[in-house]
Formats: sequence, structure tokens, C-alpha cells
Amino acid sequence: MQDARLHTMIQAVAKAAIATRSVHASTNIDGLAKEDKSPVTVADWASQAVVAIELSRSAFAAVSLVGEEEADTLRSPESAGLRARVIEAVTRALGPVGEDEVLAAIDRGGGAPDGCFFTLDPVDGTKGFLRRQQYAISLALIEHGEVVAGVVGCPNLPAINGNYDVADAHGTLAWATRGGGAFGCACAANEIAHATRLTIAPWMHGAPVRACESVESGHSKQDLSAELLAEVGSPGTPARLDSQSKYVVVARGGADAYLRLPTKKDYREKIWDHAAGALVATEAGARVCDVDGKALDFGRGRELSANRGVFAGHPDAVEQLVRAFRARGL
Ligand code: AMP
Ligand code: MG
Repeated sequence: MQDARLHTMIQAVAKAAIATRSVHASTNIDGLAKEDKSPVTVADWASQAVVAIELSRSAFAAVSLVGEEEADTLRSPESAGLRARVIEAVTRALGPVGEDEVLAAIDRGGGAPDGCFFTLDPVDGTKGFLRRQQYAISLALIEHGEVVAGVVGCPNLPAINGNYDVADAHGTLAWATRGGGAFGCACAANEIAHATRLTIAPWMHGAPVRACESVESGHSKQDLSAELLAEVGSPGTPARLDSQSKYVVVARGGADAYLRLPTKKDYREKIWDHAAGALVATEAGARVCDVDGKALDFGRGRELSANRGVFAGHPDAVEQLVRAFRARGL
């Protein structure tokens, strides 16, 4: 892994966090509903524009970008107000930029997911963003189906594990390269020099599994996670937080396992919802797999079409959870 690529990715995510924070600082953070009914906000578009512009100004401008958002809605005449707010947020992060440059940058996210490409979730956990709780800016580099670098910016994630319902002023920035370990610091470019290595917590067979899961019961089957956890000897409610910040919490030892149990038979996880976070957790010593115990396969386009659900955590705790899930024959 070339350090220059990682450096570019970290800078891009740290600058995108300036844009999303500026949206939070404004009074109106309402979301719009996309066609698939998921919410999108000024912050989603601004963050994607910032990352795309940063990448296009770097030595890696030729590497394609697979991002979650596109700019069609923003181009319509009735979106003039939204467009102005997106440009304002991008300007806060990067200095003066033109409307055409911002819209073109957002659309740069329509790249093809093959060979070597970046994948971006500009605001993962938009519902958490709207609640002013946890969300993440997640950027990964995938080469021939393998995640080789990942950066997860969590602008509201406190450094201390525990209460995730609050918006911390400093946030957390985490990153990893394949084989190079995972690191974290406060969520700002000038904090990178103070980064420390992330490692999962030790866990002994028979000890309670400190778990985390989605806030949204539509994203992970919470009644089933309660059953599985009770079966492995961990009754009680898991910590609930939005976005890939869950992978970061596991990576730094704040939880022994992250459970993401399918709620719909045919839902397939999106690569940008997992690539960066999964690498951070893996490089911190976690096992990351699907509910059947299979490794996540990032070589199948925009979706993890060979997988369903996710477990991430201490390898022995994950093994127990996989067994408990399998025993149900679901
Ligand atoms: P989280 O914040 O962990 O609950 O995850 C947020 C992500 O869940 C969003 O970025 C969506 O792409 C994704 N998502 C949407 N619908 C589902 C679903 N039915 N199952 C799992 N994930 C979903
Ligand atoms: Mg997402």
C-alpha cells in the first residue's frame, strides 16, 4: 500500500467531515426521500462532492469512484435552494468552488465497480445524522475484490466507549490498510499525528459478549440478536448506534461483537456500507463475516451479493454467534 493513497483518502474524509459538520451547525438539516425511500440530505451530497473533488485533485484522479449518491435531483430548477446549500457546505471544506464543479464531482461517484476503485458512503447512517447522533463518512479502496485501504470518519463518535447517543465535539477518525494495522484519532486532519493503534478487546469463552447493533430495527433483526446473545450467555440490550461507527467501536475494544441480522430475505448489503469499516475491524484483530460464517466478498459489484448479514468481533465470540445462528436453520 502506498502511503500517498492512504494520506489522500484520510485528507478527503477529514475535509468531508468539515462539510457535514457545517450542515449540522445550520438550523435546517431535513432529509429528502430517495426513490428507495432512504433519506438523503445536503450533507450526503456535499460530502460526496468534497471527497470526489479531493480525489480528482490528487495523483489518483484516474481511479474510478463508486459512491452512493448522484446529482440528478439537485440539477432540477426546483432544487435551487438545496443546490446553494450543498455548494455552501462544500465551500466551507474546500474554499470557493463552482456549481458545475460540485455537480460534476457528485456524478463522478457513478464509476464502475471493477478492477481498482474507490467506494464511498458520503453519509452512512443518514438517519443517525438526522437525529444528530452517529453517522460516518466511509471511503475504501478495493483492488481486484480485496479492500486494501479504508477510512471511516465518525464526526460525532466520542473517544470513550459508552454513551453513543450524544454528538461528541471531536469525533473519531479511523483507518486501516490491508496488513498494515488499524489506527484512530480525533476526527480532524491535524489530529493524524496523534493516532494510536486500534486493537479489539480480549474475550474469553464464557465471558459476556458486549454487543452492538443498528438503531434501526429495519436494518438488523433486533429480536433475533437478543435471542442469539442470550444463547451465548449475554442477555441484555446491545449498544445501538448508526453507521459504520459500529465497526470502529469493535476495532477499539468498545464491543466484542457487532451483529447485523437480515430483516428481509432478498436484501443485499451495499459495498460502501461495509468496505472501510470491515477492514478497520479486521486489521484490529476482529473476524468479519456474514451470518453463515462466510468472508465478505467485495468482488461482486455494488452489492455483497454472495453474503447476507454481518458479524464482526472477537473471532471466538463471532464463532459462537455463527454457530447459534446456524443452529436455527434460518
Ligand atoms: P445502520 O446505520 O448500521 O443501521 O446502517 C445504515 C445502512 O443500512 C444504510 O446505509 C443503508 O444502505 C442500509 N440498509 C438499508 N436497508 C437495509 C436493510 N433492509 N437491511 C440492512 N441494511 C439496510
Ligand atoms: Mg450507508
